[in-house]
Amino acid sequence: MSIKGCTFDVGDLVRGEQGVAVSFDIKQSIEKAFAENEKPVSPLQATVTFMKIAEGIHVSLKNMCAKFPFICNKCGKEFVREITVNDRERVYFFEEDKEEKDIFDRYHVDLKNMTVDITELIRQEMILHFPTIPVCSKSCKGLCPVCGADLNDTSCSCTVQEVTEEKPLAILKTLYNAKASGSEEKNS
Ligand SMILES: [Zn+2]
Ligand SMILES: [Zn+2]
Repeated sequence: MSIKGCTFDVGDLVRGEQGVAVSFDIKQSIEKAFAENEKPVSPLQATVTFMKIAEGIHVSLKNMCAKFPFICNKCGKEFVREITVNDRERVYFFEEDKEEKDIFDRYHVDLKNMTVDITELIRQEMILHFPTIPVCSKSCKGLCPVCGADLNDTSCSCTVQEVTEEKPLAILKTLYNAKASGSEEKNS
C-alpha cells in the first residue's frame, strides 16, 4: 500500500478478504486542503486504519492533531492552537447510492485508481473542532475600548465608563407580580 498525500492505494485491500485491515501512523502536510486564512502550521498526525467491509472501505482515524493559526477575539493577535480529534470513523463506499440525497456527504473509493482520499474527511473534522470564539488565553485582557492599547502588554489611564443597565420594562414586571399575588390572595 502506498501513500501519496492523504490518498492511499487500497488495491490490495479491495481485492482481499473482508475484515482485513491495515494501519498507518501518518505525519502529513495538509496545507493544500485548507483555505488561505486557515492553513495549518504543522503537519497532520494521525493513526489511520483501513478495513475492507462488504460495502466499501471502513476508515478509522485516531488521535488526529494539527496546529492552526487563529486570531484572538479579544486582543486581535494571532496565536497557534493544536486541534485534536480523538476518534472518527467513516465508510468509503464502492458504489454510489442513486437515492442518496446528500451526495456530498458520501465518500467513495476511487475504483479506477484503487485509492481512498481522506483529505476532505480530515479537513471537515478539523474545521468542525475549531473554537467558535477563538481567544488566545483565558486570561487575555483584550484591548482598551477607549485608546486601543493591548492591556496584556501595557496599562493605560483611560477611564472606562461603567454601563449602567437600564431596564425600562422592569416596572411592568413589578406591576404584573403585584397583580398576580393580589389575585392569588383572593383565590385562597
Ligand atoms: Zn488575546
Ligand atoms: Zn486606554
